[in-house]
Amino acid sequence: MGDKVFEPGIKAGRLTAEAYADHFSDLHPALDTHEALVASDRCYFCHDAPCITACPTDIDIPLFIRQIATGTPDAAARTILSQNILGGMCARVCPTEQLCEQACVREVAEGKPVLIGQLQRYATDHLQAQDMHPFTRAETTGKSVAVVGAGPAGLSCAHRLAMLGNDVVIYDAQPKPGGLNEYGIAAYKTPDGFAQAEVDWLMQIGGISIQHGKTLGSDLSLDGLKSEHDAVFLGMGLGGVNGLSVPGADKDNVLDAVDFISDLRQAGDLGQIPVGRDVVVIGGGMTAVDAAVQAKLLGALNVTLVYRRGRGAMNASGFEQDLAASKGVRIVTHAMPKAVHGNGAAREIEFDYVDDQMQPTGETLQLAVDQVFKAIGQTLEGADLPVLDAGKIKVDAVGQTSVSGVWAGGDCASGGDDLTVTAVAEGRDAAMDIHAALSKNAG
Ligand code: SF4
Repeated sequence: MGDKVFEPGIKAGRLTAEAYADHFSDLHPALDTHEALVASDRCYFCHDAPCITACPTDIDIPLFIRQIATGTPDAAARTILSQNILGGMCARVCPTEQLCEQACVREVAEGKPVLIGQLQRYATDHLQAQDMHPFTRAETTGKSVAVVGAGPAGLSCAHRLAMLGNDVVIYDAQPKPGGLNEYGIAAYKTPDGFAQAEVDWLMQIGGISIQHGKTLGSDLSLDGLKSEHDAVFLGMGLGGVNGLSVPGADKDNVLDAVDFISDLRQAGDLGQIPVGRDVVVIGGGMTAVDAAVQAKLLGALNVTLVYRRGRGAMNASGFEQDLAASKGVRIVTHAMPKAVHGNGAAREIEFDYVDDQMQPTGETLQLAVDQVFKAIGQTLEGADLPVLDAGKIKVDAVGQTSVSGVWAGGDCASGGDDLTVTAVAEGRDAAMDIHAALSKNAG
């Protein structure tokens, strides 16, 4: 092991099988029961708990922590899942240090919050390990709802609708359900097939079927869905990626970070995934960090993440930035791509340093590169959409679009902050509104 990391070019198998297994193991090993009891004991069970307000899905955090503390983790899981059916995944991927744990009074007083995310994982894992689904369906309503997209928003919406007695058909473009949970986040955040296991567990509610390989605008039309179903929820995320518009951007090995992350997640053998010796990632969000860290973990020697603004403006959280740095990713800020050089394939990428107004300072940066990953934002793709607002489907507070009988939520809808947990909240809230609308029509 080791020698291959110095070999230039793009190569698979830079590391040993043991190194891949080690590098891509669970980012936060689960708490055991003793650790969970110790962690839960730190909670003050605050009245008007600020952690609840900070949670986009409004989980009753002090209640579930008390349930863990009293030795009833399955009851704790039910408390969590009643608000957030993907509570297991959110426990793994939520930026808790910006949400509940930032608001925790023990963070404010001592700089050491209650480990809310890890406690949430402890409870949900405990329940899901027994393959126990804690909810049952209400009596059937006879209503049918189409959900486009099997990602966090769509799954959350579908589960809530099914629980309320509606029949749901999910249409998804990909061969597997899960959306970003399955295709779009770093492997070390959700190892051991957790994303699929969670979907299988969620589907135990019954009343939900999934059709794969179906994309709105090509395989499906909004009018068709409306005529076949009583309501439609659009939660297909953002399928397009922004391009890099600098000279040389079309050279070989200038790639989309989302494809790299997806290939890596779907790989049976990480030793088959090629990675450069010198890698540059352009962007400042979670996708950029996930690509940069994973390139490093696959054995790239030099990985540089380059962002056009300052660190404070990065969408990736402080925790993610620190994680990248701890894995050896170099972060360069205030630099904008100027040109990609090379004869056919990218060999060097040149940046302009910019000031806070993003005006070039006159200084430039050249980086040797075998592989460039672009992570500069995603766009809504597809035809046959309701009215858009700033490139996303315009919705009101409960997810209603400009088209009667059509709701939307998650990354494809306006508002929100593109977090998994926000998508889950939007899917759930739209489901409640859809159910209320259908019940009214039925009455
Ligand atoms: Fe517990 Fe912290 Fe929430 Fe208070 S703010 S209830 S201490 S987790």
